[in-house]
Amino acid sequence: MVYGYWGKVLRVNLSTGAIATEDLDEIFLRRYIGGWGFIAYALLKELAPGIDPLGPQNKLIFTTGPVTGQAIAGGGRNMVGAKSPLTGGFAGSEVGGFFCAELKRAGWDTLILEGAAEKPVYLWVKDGQVELRDASHLWGLETADAQERIRGGLGDNLIRVAQIGPAGERQVRIANVIHDVNRAAGRGGLGAVMGSKKLKAIAVRGSQKPPAANPEAIGELARWFRDNYKATGSGVFATLGTMRMVRNNQNAGGLPTRNFQEGVFDEYEKISAEAQTNAYTVGRDTCFGCPVRCKWIVEVNDSDYPVDRKYGGPEYETTGSFGSCCGVDDLRIINRAGQLCNANGLDSIGAGVTIAFAMECFEKGLLTLADTGGLDLRFGNGPAMLTMLERIARREGLGDLLAEGSRRAAARIGGGSLAWTVQVKGQEVAMHDPRVKYGHGLGVAVSPTGADHMHSVHDSGYQTAGGIEELEPLGILEPLPFDDLSTAKVRMVRYAMIWRVLNNMSGICMFHAWTPQQKTEIINACTGWDSSIMELWLAAERVYDMARAFNAREGFGPQDDLLPPRFLEPLPRGPVAGRGFTGEQFIAARNKLYELMGWDPHTAAPSRAKLEDLGVAWVADLLEEAKR
Ligand code: SF4
Repeated sequence: MVYGYWGKVLRVNLSTGAIATEDLDEIFLRRYIGGWGFIAYALLKELAPGIDPLGPQNKLIFTTGPVTGQAIAGGGRNMVGAKSPLTGGFAGSEVGGFFCAELKRAGWDTLILEGAAEKPVYLWVKDGQVELRDASHLWGLETADAQERIRGGLGDNLIRVAQIGPAGERQVRIANVIHDVNRAAGRGGLGAVMGSKKLKAIAVRGSQKPPAANPEAIGELARWFRDNYKATGSGVFATLGTMRMVRNNQNAGGLPTRNFQEGVFDEYEKISAEAQTNAYTVGRDTCFGCPVRCKWIVEVNDSDYPVDRKYGGPEYETTGSFGSCCGVDDLRIINRAGQLCNANGLDSIGAGVTIAFAMECFEKGLLTLADTGGLDLRFGNGPAMLTMLERIARREGLGDLLAEGSRRAAARIGGGSLAWTVQVKGQEVAMHDPRVKYGHGLGVAVSPTGADHMHSVHDSGYQTAGGIEELEPLGILEPLPFDDLSTAKVRMVRYAMIWRVLNNMSGICMFHAWTPQQKTEIINACTGWDSSIMELWLAAERVYDMARAFNAREGFGPQDDLLPPRFLEPLPRGPVAGRGFTGEQFIAARNKLYELMGWDPHTAAPSRAKLEDLGVAWVADLLEEAKR
């Protein structure tokens, strides 16, 4: 008997309407674990190289891990993946909430959606009963309205929904997949893939408890977390949520400001977690089974900028993207922008950083009032930012161009504006400036998903003996300063980054400060395996390399593992003013990482020997076939 999984894949062909069930065996499960592992496997095996990400050949995958849906804190996550229409490479985006556990409770580990429907449909999954239903009445609706109509139509208010908003319907390349109306599988433009398939939503209701090998051990770990999390790294998220990072990053000199031109925002107090809590916070929310409750719910009763609590509240990333990064210091407007993203299904990082890029173009004269449709798109103009956000969702005017993401927009705007885009592989950088986190920058540059803050290390946590404790079981024993790019730092990046990828495979929230031993115990308690930290770390490295191999087959190389030029300009003021790394220093560190990872210095792909060592020689075969 397999525990921690059902061993079931639900495959739905949207072109033909065919619905099929496939089985997964235990060796497969143990080798690839789940999440990113299943996504990378399916993309490599099932996609021909070079397919159009917005064509019917692309596959959209919703997948869980062995911990998803188990009665333990942080086990409320699933992963969504496809070939990205934003980067052209591997996309894997993680999301919390309640949809994830419901999908597992319905008896499925993974959904693979292929083909494309002729007219809008939604997928209704009630345990083993699976049905494609007409969604013409839902197409065009904002997410909360669509969820209400689905629940009303099916007569069950406990149905969980993952869906696209109007942005995904219009195949905006920075569109996301919204879960539960207020959680986003945000990165990679996965909402556009869903829109290209005319799949408005997936509605799920399940009644089965996911199988666990050792429920007593899971219960014991869950109780330990409940009683102790406040004293671990998770505790900080329970006090001020993720918005606490506004102040932290300001103090470090790396709060992205005016399109990353600066790292300090003079008005940061006005957009801080404390200001939000005092003025607009009306409650806290959580994900399945989690006592941390890091989600701040906001409400704004202002006729100009109404914000409804059902859409949750902005995380740090949303606050930074629409706040300091666009030079906006009005929380009402930032909260409104967060709601517009959730209602329309837009990635708040992608949208905020793309608008910040457009603001820089406007201030420097490459965009004019004629281009913006009369909007004075200067930094700090909050109302203009909101209007542009709505235009992106509807692909109107300049919004149609910005809907393509900043890199594609710069190619059309010209005038050297590409140098002002803050993106890697076409995906906009999150609110973490590599100039105050050198190792993070390295991780962001090589990530197979493009700029990605989720699995790239955050150096700030590893500068002290206390901080480094988490990495000691991986053999990283010495703290290093944020501005170190030595071989020792590169080694730290390698081990920590790969370990973080295990979250994206197992379905564990990254904010849960489980030690490596505890994470291993959790996975063993769910599955019944006797896995070691070493086995799980290698599984994560296998999967990370498979994602890199997918990109290599699509033509990615060292030229794509670069940071944007902005990060080679020293920060002009603040605590780290004038400091920074040169392009040469960065390339030397990146090449060292290639060496330690066993990646070919010319192609940046994992070598055959490395893939054989990881037990996936078939991936090396695929790479060689693609060259013939
Ligand atoms: S820490 Fe926050 S994001 Fe993570 S599971 Fe708990 S509530 Fe969700």
